[in-house]
Order: sequence, then C-alpha cells, then structure tokens
Amino acid sequence: MAASFLTHFPITPINRFLYSHKPKTLIKTLTTLSTSTSPSLITTHEQEITLIDETPLQIPKEKLFIPPETEINPEKGPRILRGSNIVLSKYAKDAQVVSAEFVKSSVETEACPNDGSPEFAFVGRSNVGKSSLVNSIVKRKKLALTSKKPGKTQCINHFRINDSWYLVDLPGYGYASAPNELRKDWNKFTKDYFLNRSTLVSVFLLIDASIPAKKIDLEYASWLGQNQVPMTLIFTKCDKRKKKKNGGKHPEENVQDFQELISEYFEAVPPWIMTSSLTNQGRDEILLHMSQLRNYWLKH
Ligand code: GDP
Repeated sequence: MAASFLTHFPITPINRFLYSHKPKTLIKTLTTLSTSTSPSLITTHEQEITLIDETPLQIPKEKLFIPPETEINPEKGPRILRGSNIVLSKYAKDAQVVSAEFVKSSVETEACPNDGSPEFAFVGRSNVGKSSLVNSIVKRKKLALTSKKPGKTQCINHFRINDSWYLVDLPGYGYASAPNELRKDWNKFTKDYFLNRSTLVSVFLLIDASIPAKKIDLEYASWLGQNQVPMTLIFTKCDKRKKKKNGGKHPEENVQDFQELISEYFEAVPPWIMTSSLTNQGRDEILLHMSQLRNYWLKH
C-alpha cells in the first residue's frame, strides 16, 4: 500500500532542477491552511507556522512529490511544503507531537512492537545529525538514546508518538572505525527490517547537505529504490552555507546533485525536505509530511 507513493510519475530524463534558494514565505495561521475537503488540516491551535511555499512554482511538476488523492487547485497550483518538493494533501492533519516515549530496543524485526501502528524509520551515516534531528522533532534534549559507540547501536529503537505511531531510530552506518564484519551485520539487520516490516510507512534517509554526496549514501538510497522501499530524503545541516574554497557547494546544489545521482533507481521522484536542527528548519514540514503519509496509509 505505501509503495504506491512511489508510482506517481514516470522516470523523466534529468532536466534542469530549478530550486528557490531563499523562498519567500508567508506566515500563515493554521486556519488559513484549511481546505473545504480537510477542515482541520492541522490540529494544533493558535500557533503560527510557516509551512507553505507561496513563491511561484520553481520546481518543475515532474520533480514534485504529489501524494495520492491530492487535488491541485488549477488556478492557485499545488501547495508545496517549504524547503521541500512535497505537495500538501488532504491527509495532512494531527501533525503535532504531544507525547513521545521510548518503548523498546529490538535486535531483529520479529521482536519489534506488533500492535500494527504505522512507523517511520530514521537512518543515516554516522554523524549525519540523526540524534539532533530526532530530538528536535520530539522537542526533547535526549530522546534518541543511541550511543555512538559501535556495538551499542545495533538496535531498532521504537519511540511511541502520541500513543498512535512510531518513530524508529535505526543504527547509523558508515562508521570509519567499525570492523568490516560488524558493518556487514548492520547491513543485513537493517535490510531485513526494510524488507519485512509491514507497518513501515517510509524510511527517512538522512543525507548531509553541507557536503557533496558520499558513495555509501548513494548506495543506500539506490538500494532502497531498487527494492521499492518507500523513502523520504531528509537533507540535514542546511544551515551550513559557507562555500568551501575547494569547490564546495551550497546545500541546495548538493540536494540537486544527490537527486540526479539516484534518479535512475526511482520510478518516481522521492519526497525530500531540507532541514537544520540548529534553526529547526524543516521540523514542521517533516511532521506534516509524516502525518499525510500516515493518514493515507491508515485509510488504505
Ligand atoms: P548522529 O551521529 O547522526 O546522531 O549525529 P549528531 O546528531 O550527534 O550530530 C553530529 C554532529 O553534527 C554534532 O557535532 C552536531 O552538533 C552536528 N549537527 C547536527 N545537526 C546539525 C545541523 O542541523 N546543523 C549543524 N550545523 N550541525 C549539526
């Protein structure tokens, strides 16, 4: 069911990927985000969130992620979540984190919680900023309990959010210091989870946008694509804007490069979001994206 998110657009040849560096965004109150089809688009109150990129569309339509059953207003065009290629759908609601609790660490897929709640798995290269992002999403300082020492991280860590869905912290990969054997185990362990976890709605693959694409990340993303595992790319550290002297690129350029490098492995353009744990960029957008994937998944 969730895999159907991957099938909205055919593969298109790599073309110009226009991306607005500094989208002019409007502060919208939540009520103004409501539509007639989804009156309670986001069930938070009073709070003002900048969510929708109201600038003229600069991402070509074939590069957008349009969730199923999304009706696009022909006059106004799609409503795109800021700093992403994700179009807002009628399923976006209940996007606030009210409660978060650690449930369990499992060493294999079969041992994971089996109550059938939908889940999202966070994974990325060691040091990509996963703990910082998970903590910023749940607004707690130390929720991601994983230690950085190889050996202590080989668990699937389930956190229950709002007593209704799971955020899953998976072992980081690519530790320079880990022995080869251990690296292989991590591969097998996480691959088994990706392929067999029926309640997995989407893998959130974290990619450091402050540096050029790494081979291991490209391999990871292409493996997910080839195995039709639904994936969202979460670009981290997007606040690091300083151009390095030796040909370093801005986050937006790295975001573009990464997608071009993996495009052949995906039938449809995967959703992506630019984030920073320092500025909280992308936090609300991740939560909204999760909510619309989750609510669609629950209905089908
Ligand atoms: P993990 O190993 O993937 O869990 O990564 P951490 O969350 O521990 O972060 C690794 C390093 O990157 C730490 O020094 C963080 O302070 C830094 N870091 C994490 N997120 C960001 C971010 O959004 N922006 C910047 N500039 N640094 C970050």
